[in-house]
Amino acid sequence: MPVAKGEGLTDFELFSRFSLDKVQDWITWLNAAGDLVYVNEAAYKALGYSKEEVYGLNIFQIDESYSPASWAAHFASLKTLGAKTFETQHRKKDGSVLPVEINSNYIEYNGHEYNCAIVRPIIERKRAETREHIKNHVLDLVARNAPLKSILGYLVQGVEEENPERLCSILLLDKSNQVLKNYVAPSLPKGYCEAIENLEVGPSVGSCGTAAFRGKPVIVENIQTDPLWKSFKALAAQYGLASCWSMPIIVDHHEVIGTFGIYHKTPKVPTQADLEQMEYLSNLARIAIERHRAAEELRLSDSIFKNTSEAMLVLDIDGLIIATNPAFTNISGYSAEEVIGHHPMAFGSPRHDQDFYSAIRSDLEEKGSWRGEIYGVKKNGEEYINWVTVNTTNDEKGQPFRRVVLFSDITEKKKHEESIWYEANYDALTHLPNRRLFQERLQQEVFRANRVGAKVVLLYLDLDGFKEVNDALGHQGGDQLLIEVARRLTHVVRITDCISRLGGDEFTVTLVDVQDSQAATNVATSILDLLQAPIMIDTHATYISASIGITVYPDDAEDASALIKNADQAMYEAKKRGRNQYSFYTQEMQYLAQRRTEQKRELRHALANHEFEIYYQPVVEPKSGMVTKAEALLRWRHGTMGIVSPAEFIPLAEDAGLIHEIGSWVFIQCLEQALQWRSRFHPDFQISVNLSPVQFKNTAYFDRWFNLLASTAASKHCLCVEITEGVLLDASDKTSEQLLRFQEAGVEVAIDDFGTGYSSLAYIKRINVDYLKIDRTFITHLASESADYPLVEAIIMMAHKLGLKVIAEGVETASQLALLTQIGCDYIQGYWYSRPLSADAFEDWLSARMQNPA
Ligand code: C2E
Ligand code: MG
Ligand code: MG
Repeated sequence: MPVAKGEGLTDFELFSRFSLDKVQDWITWLNAAGDLVYVNEAAYKALGYSKEEVYGLNIFQIDESYSPASWAAHFASLKTLGAKTFETQHRKKDGSVLPVEINSNYIEYNGHEYNCAIVRPIIERKRAETREHIKNHVLDLVARNAPLKSILGYLVQGVEEENPERLCSILLLDKSNQVLKNYVAPSLPKGYCEAIENLEVGPSVGSCGTAAFRGKPVIVENIQTDPLWKSFKALAAQYGLASCWSMPIIVDHHEVIGTFGIYHKTPKVPTQADLEQMEYLSNLARIAIERHRAAEELRLSDSIFKNTSEAMLVLDIDGLIIATNPAFTNISGYSAEEVIGHHPMAFGSPRHDQDFYSAIRSDLEEKGSWRGEIYGVKKNGEEYINWVTVNTTNDEKGQPFRRVVLFSDITEKKKHEESIWYEANYDALTHLPNRRLFQERLQQEVFRANRVGAKVVLLYLDLDGFKEVNDALGHQGGDQLLIEVARRLTHVVRITDCISRLGGDEFTVTLVDVQDSQAATNVATSILDLLQAPIMIDTHATYISASIGITVYPDDAEDASALIKNADQAMYEAKKRGRNQYSFYTQEMQYLAQRRTEQKRELRHALANHEFEIYYQPVVEPKSGMVTKAEALLRWRHGTMGIVSPAEFIPLAEDAGLIHEIGSWVFIQCLEQALQWRSRFHPDFQISVNLSPVQFKNTAYFDRWFNLLASTAASKHCLCVEITEGVLLDASDKTSEQLLRFQEAGVEVAIDDFGTGYSSLAYIKRINVDYLKIDRTFITHLASESADYPLVEAIIMMAHKLGLKVIAEGVETASQLALLTQIGCDYIQGYWYSRPLSADAFEDWLSARMQNPA
């Protein structure tokens, strides 16, 4: 039963109502049936009704949570309690809901029961609560690594639930294409979403494209009239969208990563509260996206941390380990628990001292990073080498926060490098330092000697006749011999001295901190003594000696390289003086060495300058006195030095590689000469040509000789080649082959200087030698009582047995001639008959002799 509006009320009642109308709180009186009997102005205005309209209503029309039964129950409980405060929602005239807090009071008045309610709108509080709820839930989802899509989906859904008129969407920027893509929009029509997929970012691309472009909110109240929507308004109309407010989602204060949009189906102007809420929501979306991305990164780094093969340690700023990865455990053998809380130093090698770590620390403090090699010790005690990189991470304030240590085990690499270094610096056979290391060390010793004012002595050692041993024993035997020599050398020197093998059979010994040359003499004598004892190679006792050159720094040279040269010259001198001895470097040697260099240079032009001349020394058959042979001996007529002996320049020509050219010239000259003398003096005339062993190393030009010989019918045996035993020793198949070719070409072969080398008749037997020339050293002291006599006799006898003819060289006296004739020597060569003569002089000599033989 509705109460008449204001009728029948006392003045006081009217006054009260009048004043209640002025109260800002909303006040409603309801009777037990739920009719609104009094509503103050604030209340009906808030609900959107006029004064007239509101008095026709009852509670069920403005609060749908009540039914008549629940209202009755509510009223009954109010009667017993007196008052009650609760929250509910009122439906406004326009249909929208209004969250309210109600303070209901039971009142009896004039015998009637009333419910007097003080109603307070709680939109703000409700909003705040919803927001808080959404925020907490969103952050909780982020923390639980929920997929970003479901996080943002929840966010949008929350907003839409709060106000069903709203249709929300979040678009995210595709960084590579610079277009916006639909990310979540649960309530927007599907067709619309598809149509705006890959939305361009630009100055007038609807609300969202423009908001992303401007980096500022874009509020379009009416899509149909707003110029920004010109190209999309038809689309919007098709899907019934009338307004669109868009808020850019911005990270790092400037980077737009997407948009948060709210659509309405009717044109809508946002209130200040709406704008604030949107800003708040887009901010929340930003946080979710950012955190999610950070979490992604974290997950990524975590998986890198766990799965990389490089060991990692994370240290706090005091240098204590706070985390390790599995690779660290794999490499070091220590579990995380065993190392966390300790300083990495505790697992370092004793090789590194406090200073080492202090240097790293100060580098880190200064630059924030460090890299280098650190030795560590594994749990099993094994030492290993790491390549270590340390970097610093900073906290939000930019202060150093953590050190990240990355390291990889480079022990194997190091070992490999070391073995490469060893190979580069040590001789593989003897394990002595090689030439490279020797030079480096000598250089260091020279610098040191300069500093402390000491001397450095260099001994340069070359084995005597090593080549022969090598040939006789084979390479393996030669190697064994070198190893044994190296071993003996190490017994002679002090630990500070350095022995090295330069290559082949050359060694050096460097003595440091020496005050005088006596030490050098002592060491050299000891070396020679030690080498005296035979070296057993398999079952053969082998004898070897050495020639040693000695030089002293700073007495003899100004630097290391000059010192090496000096020592070499001194060694050369020791060889020349007869081997198995030492020789100190002298200025004279330097002079000679310089002269050798000079001569070598001049020798290059000697042939072109016609400075060579061939001399001929007759070879006489003693029984008949016939002269049908001569030896060609080369002379160098030097511009200033006069005639230079072949003993001096042939070795130089060999060294300088000129011997081939010179030798070839001699050979061809002699061939012409022999043919000429054959026709002039005797049809069997023969000239012997000396061939150097070096010439057999490159035999290509021999072909030319053979061609020349073949082209001349009368050339058979007009030439004989003289080779030394050395050539035979070197008798590789190639050499024997060449000698055979000479013989096939009609050239005879003589062994020169027989008896001075590694004389072996076995070699001679191997190839078909025609003549044996007994060296002058056996002839010089030849007398019937001399020791050489039976030797010479034996040589001649054996040679004859092998079918060889014998020529005695250097016969100077009548008695030598007589003895040799008596023993049965086939030919005689020597000053007794004639010195070597120029071709003209030889012809004169021979003509004279033919007229007057004997
Ligand atoms: P060789 O082949 O043994 O020559 C004999 C050397 O003994 C010659 O010295 C000769 O002058 C010398 N001689 C001969 N009879 C006597 C004597 O009764 N008493 C003394 N004291 N000496 C005598 P030369 O001419 O100085 O030659 C030295 C060496 O140079 C030669 O020794 C030979 O090995 C080499 N040679 C000479 N010419 C050539 C050449 O054209 N090519 C090559 N590869 N080597 C050559
Ligand atoms: Mg000769
Ligand atoms: Mg000779």
